[in-house]
Amino acid sequence: MADQQALDEVVEFTSDLIRIDTTNRSGGDCQERPAAEYAAARLAGAGLEPTLLERTKGRTNVVARIEGTDPSADPLLVHGHLDVVPAEARDWSVHPFSGEVRDGVVWGRGAVDMKNMDAMILAVVRAWAREGFRPRRDLVIAFTADEEASAEDGSGFLADEHPGLFEGCTEGVSESGAFTFHDGGGRQIYPIAAGERGTGWLKLTARGRAGHGSKVNKENAVTRLAAAITRIGEHEWPLRLTPTVRAALTELAALYGIETDLRDVDALLEKLGPAAKLVEATVRNSANPTMLDAGYKINVIPGEAVAHVDGRYLPGGEDEFRTTLDRLTGPDVEWEFHHREVALQAPVDSPTYAKMRAAVEEFAPEGHVVPYCMSGGTDAKQFSRLGITGYGFTPLRLPEGYDYQAMFHGVDERVPVEALHFGVRVLDRFLRTV
Ligand SMILES: [Zn+2]
Repeated sequence: MADQQALDEVVEFTSDLIRIDTTNRSGGDCQERPAAEYAAARLAGAGLEPTLLERTKGRTNVVARIEGTDPSADPLLVHGHLDVVPAEARDWSVHPFSGEVRDGVVWGRGAVDMKNMDAMILAVVRAWAREGFRPRRDLVIAFTADEEASAEDGSGFLADEHPGLFEGCTEGVSESGAFTFHDGGGRQIYPIAAGERGTGWLKLTARGRAGHGSKVNKENAVTRLAAAITRIGEHEWPLRLTPTVRAALTELAALYGIETDLRDVDALLEKLGPAAKLVEATVRNSANPTMLDAGYKINVIPGEAVAHVDGRYLPGGEDEFRTTLDRLTGPDVEWEFHHREVALQAPVDSPTYAKMRAAVEEFAPEGHVVPYCMSGGTDAKQFSRLGITGYGFTPLRLPEGYDYQAMFHGVDERVPVEALHFGVRVLDRFLRTV
């Protein structure tokens, strides 16, 4: 059981880490080093020997290993990123880098994404050191840089250049899971992430015949591009149920006493009401046109027009995504991946998933645990290259009316102290039993 000091420390560490400004504006403009040193010092205080690793000066990652009692058990990776997205102080009620604790709530950028989890991990391993407790499995603790941009200085670098530090790890746990989802009707759901959609950020280029804007031109690049992105934007992607989403729909249907008919998922989603939010973005691929760039003068037809599309594909859905894009863009428009990240899938019938579920149910007996697939991505994508299956598990018990999803990259990001205490208790129980 997490002791009082662990409960105090999780609040102190969350607050302290928020105060260390690790804003990641992309393009390499971020310094995680002070936060990494802060975390490393607290790990060292627990008798561990953290390693600090940088690909780029100041972009620091921290990795430490806790030796388990069962050498035959597969090590488990527990990771959190140290960087945060930018915050404009003038938009906030409390300064985003104050880490202020006001009325039982810790305020600031990173309170949810994800200095809270970094603090929980630190608080738990320090409590274990005080008690002399050793887990069964080896635990590899990693705090990463650069998750909010390309991960090239963070988990991507660790996976490519330092795979030995993760030797033997088969599974990992990190952000976005086991938080309270209030359905508005009194039910409390705790979704645990067991998958992520893949990212396909696309660049479309239409080519045509440049010329005078007053002439007939059937090879207008702007027209060709517009037609292609209209087809993409209006495309209705077919329903595809991955094992995680199938399990989520089945369990949610059971919770609401709805007859499960997975042949008509859209009808089922409608019946689920607000809880449909947990699955609706992950029952099909998606592709949204987001940027356009063409032309330089109103009476000149340009020879080229460019658009960008934010595409996301399900685990197992990348081939279909590619062939569909080939068809939708047609012969006059080329497309390429500007940025591509794999989709992930983790089993929901694994002993590890069962342990996460049991830990949540113990401390939130009123809660209903269901698996879900994240619509976006995390560092788990990079670690998957090492054969590590990723789960999203950052336990938080949240009050009704607190909009968890809006906290991610949002204004007035904050986390209740009680939620952090719950998180430490659940994470401690999970990591002790897994
Ligand atoms: Zn995050």
